[in-house]
Amino acid sequence: MDTYEFDVVIIGGGPAGCTCALYTARSDLKTVILDKNAAVGALAITHKIANYPGVSGEVSGPQLLEIMRQQAIDFGTTYQRAQVFSIDISGPQKKVYTPEGTFIGRSLVLATGAMGRKPSFSGEADFLGRGVSYCATCDGAFYRESEVAVVGENPEAIEEAQVLTKFAKTVHWITNKDPNPEDYHAQALLKRPNIKHWGRTRLMLIEGDNAGVSGVQIKEKGTTDIQTLPVAGVFVYKSGSKPITDFVGDQVAFNADGGVQVTEMMETSVEGVWAVGDIRNTPFKQAVVAAGDGCVAAMSIDRYLNSRKMVRPDWDHS
Ligand SMILES: Cc1cc2nc3c(=O)[nH]c(=O)nc-3n(C[C@H](O)[C@H](O)[C@H](O)COP(=O)(O)OP(=O)(O)OC[C@H]3O[C@@H](n4cnc5c(N)ncnc54)[C@H](O)[C@@H]3O)c2cc1C
Repeated sequence: MDTYEFDVVIIGGGPAGCTCALYTARSDLKTVILDKNAAVGALAITHKIANYPGVSGEVSGPQLLEIMRQQAIDFGTTYQRAQVFSIDISGPQKKVYTPEGTFIGRSLVLATGAMGRKPSFSGEADFLGRGVSYCATCDGAFYRESEVAVVGENPEAIEEAQVLTKFAKTVHWITNKDPNPEDYHAQALLKRPNIKHWGRTRLMLIEGDNAGVSGVQIKEKGTTDIQTLPVAGVFVYKSGSKPITDFVGDQVAFNADGGVQVTEMMETSVEGVWAVGDIRNTPFKQAVVAAGDGCVAAMSIDRYLNSRKMVRPDWDHS
């Protein structure tokens, strides 16, 4: 198996990884991005994005990502398509294993995002980014005066449904159980004039066509009838986002919510390893936040590697 050596190995080519690479490459650090697939990250599947600073109007997620990736490459980053299946971060040289070879870094950045949750509903994967969303803050404004559905009864679903009531004509809130009468936020949501609550109801299917979502099929408990709601957007909050960390195992510390634990410099619990973007399970998952994380990590890495120049070991070829 071939071995490649870099100052900075970045796993994940979303806005977090690309921004980090742009800064480290520009600091003359030999940088590689290892990216499973440029088309499957959160930004890559975003249909329209209108809130990235400096980019006015609406661009697609893939267009914005292409600009970020190209900028990193222009500053000298190597972009390598490769799926990382494991890492070994026990020594000073961080080893990253992929089918394309082993990449060894003097520093390592984890930036694989939080798209690790499996779809819960029929049609969810087909229409992801085309009417199916996990982020009302990101996409709510695209549904002004439209009908939308929110699925789930956890606190995230309730908060996101509240956001949508500012934009949508009707928010159909679909819950398997009736909300707890003691839950202040759920009860406040039910009082909103444009909420239509479907309690003890299951989402059966998300349907649509080439233009995107056109409706959802639902079934109320105790009935056999399937009803169709003509919604243009479906916001799914069954089990929340899941950081992609399977290749990490238990080699770094995690927060209780599954996000990688970091300091304010984005350093993980292991020296020489940083984590940026949605893999931290940040409360506000936005492209600009991920990019900001990438910048902070890059500057911290530059400082770290400069301070280690005097003790730089020979490459370990084991
Ligand atoms: C539907 C939707 C709409 C959104 N709309 C907006 C919006 O309007 N505005 C906004 O600011 N934000 C929006 N967001 C949020 C934003 O896209 C994310 O916060 C941001 O993309 C996170 O960046 P990231 O780099 O951490 O992860 P990602 O963008 O998810 O990138 C992760 C990268 O890691 C790669 N990867 C994963 N596993 C591996 C592996 N094992 N080996 C190698 N590579 C791997 C993936 O292929 C991917 O390229 C939206 C998100 C979604 C899902």
